[in-house]
Amino acid sequence: MDLEDDGTSQVIATDGSCIQNGESRARAGAGVYYENDHRRNLSIRLSDELEQSNQTAEIVATLLATTTAESRTRITIETDSRTTMDSLTKWRQRHEDTGYIAQKNADLTRATIASMRQRGGHTLFRWVKGHNGHARNEEADKLAALGAMETTSTPIRRLFPDTLKVTGAKLQSMTQKLAYQAICARKTVANLDRIVSGVKEAFGLHVHDATVWNSFRTRHVSRLISQFLWMAVHDGYMIGSHWLRPKMPPDLQDRAVCAICGELETMTHITLECEATGRETIWKLLQEVWTHTGARWHEPCWGTTFGAACAVFRNADGAQSAALEQLWCILSTEALHLIWRLRCERVIQNEGRNFTESEVANRFYAAMDARLDLDRRTAAIAHGRKALRQKDVERIWLPVIGNDKELPPKWVVDSGILVGIKRGK
Ligand SMILES: [Zn+2]
Repeated sequence: MDLEDDGTSQVIATDGSCIQNGESRARAGAGVYYENDHRRNLSIRLSDELEQSNQTAEIVATLLATTTAESRTRITIETDSRTTMDSLTKWRQRHEDTGYIAQKNADLTRATIASMRQRGGHTLFRWVKGHNGHARNEEADKLAALGAMETTSTPIRRLFPDTLKVTGAKLQSMTQKLAYQAICARKTVANLDRIVSGVKEAFGLHVHDATVWNSFRTRHVSRLISQFLWMAVHDGYMIGSHWLRPKMPPDLQDRAVCAICGELETMTHITLECEATGRETIWKLLQEVWTHTGARWHEPCWGTTFGAACAVFRNADGAQSAALEQLWCILSTEALHLIWRLRCERVIQNEGRNFTESEVANRFYAAMDARLDLDRRTAAIAHGRKALRQKDVERIWLPVIGNDKELPPKWVVDSGILVGIKRGK
């Protein structure tokens, strides 16, 4: 029996666990350990609306400890997560003053703080080194791991009285930089929401923010495009309302508006709405190429383009097809990025001159062929377990390769063979 466990004080160990942390199939569990066979021990799987990650599971475990402990008992929560402990203790004031702007797990952190304030007894924290033979930590870890393997998840109580909630940022603590961060954070959140809801609508798949971020880095998104996706979602490009900042000279403020359509330029406008020659053509050409796969076509939206690496496609038998999904990811992100590049060339280099339809078509096929070449060259020098291999390139690209009946067996790695994607319908 622990010395502190005399009825008026209690040590509780908490831990989070995550299977396949950071991946789309990640499943997280939280563990709360009082003592062996204690009726308040908990082992739960995080409900689907929460991000399935270690860090989220850690904070959920802490929240559960503060809500399940006897209210008047003084509790000491042992955690191996410094982030969790610090966010509830030494960073608390700063985060409350700044309205939790740009903080991960802000709702859960605030719920935990509110829960601590509702308790009659004090809540203390003690950091212990994880996986270091600390008996209570090991038990909490086991409970968390069991939770992650549960087949059903447990919704947790996140509601707390408004009086305990810190709403918004205290104005005196809001520096201009933070205010700007808040605006940017809001735009990032809005863009992520566009992707998440678009993926849900097009592919029926519920993805979390972390999955979207990770999807930008899959090997089927080129490094250049990966940077583009990241910047675009963070609203990092100098377009639209950025030209309307307070100190911007009036003659530059005109640049906020699309010269062709007269509308405020946003990433949505540029990639999905703009009337400039090229945008619509590129999506049409992509549709034509995609028709050759026989798979379903989805109209471009944030979910099918920026979220392309989260796409779900099925082959004729109805089975989910990784090759189709990878091909979609490649073609869709290449098309998206080409639209962005053409827009930048038109506005910045060509002083607003529109491209012709045939210029656009040539650029489209050139971009797709260049990408196919890159994948072939990568496969030719493939080494390492995760490298793109000859059979991968064949599996992914074959449905859209021109003259596919006449291809020699080694077409992928034989650089002497000229291969391109199918033109026209
Ligand atoms: Zn436009």
